[in-house]
Amino acid sequence: MIDLSVIIPIYNEEKNIPVLMQRLQQVINPMNLSVEYLFINDGSGDNSIALIKQLSLTHEAIKYIDFSRNFGHQIAVTAGLDKCRGNAAVIIDADLQDPPELIAELYAKMKTGYEVVYAKRLTRSGESFFKKITARIFYRLIARITTIDIPLDTGDFRIIHRKVIDVLKQMPEQQKYLRGQIPWIGFRTSYVEYNRDPRLEGETGYSLKKMLMIL
Ligand code: UDP
Ligand code: MG
Repeated sequence: MIDLSVIIPIYNEEKNIPVLMQRLQQVINPMNLSVEYLFINDGSGDNSIALIKQLSLTHEAIKYIDFSRNFGHQIAVTAGLDKCRGNAAVIIDADLQDPPELIAELYAKMKTGYEVVYAKRLTRSGESFFKKITARIFYRLIARITTIDIPLDTGDFRIIHRKVIDVLKQMPEQQKYLRGQIPWIGFRTSYVEYNRDPRLEGETGYSLKKMLMIL
């Protein structure tokens, strides 16, 4: 068992991967943990997988799963959680909308006695009015129609303890919705706040169709 797994779903992120790795290592190396970086290539049509393979040759901590086609973000993250070996796992987007620097804070907060620490967006810059309004409506609607306390304005960017990963692995849901499943499981939960950055490079992999399929 290692200290920390970093789970990174990848759909056409060739332009972001080098900067992402650099920023991840910059924050995680000084934390003095045993760590693995687990990339899940979700059927990218660009050079992402070649880049990841190349990185894995020179960095022992870099591992990958390579999907046969595009299955979607939730399935990619789930595959990562199934395979990871960490005593805790951070789920983070590859496009640097989730600032890697926050991982130090997420980890430190977990260590004060939580099994889940999620990252709550205070602002989200660089996103369309349409994206913001649909997200706003989506999270508020979900909050009203479920009895589970799903945190508002929160994506999958969070740290979860091995205890949570092991329960998730036992859940038979075919249609995954980790943002709902993790609060459903319970455990001690806290959060840290951050300002969401714009995507560094490339385009959103979340088409309207994919957004609707989550529902
Ligand atoms: N992603 C994925 N499969 C997809 C769509 C996206 O693995 O079908 C990845 C993507 O590379 C990124 C993360 O999931 O690391 C979030 O996707 P994106 O930034 O495109 O979504 P948005 O931030 O626009 O909601
Ligand atoms: Mg994004």
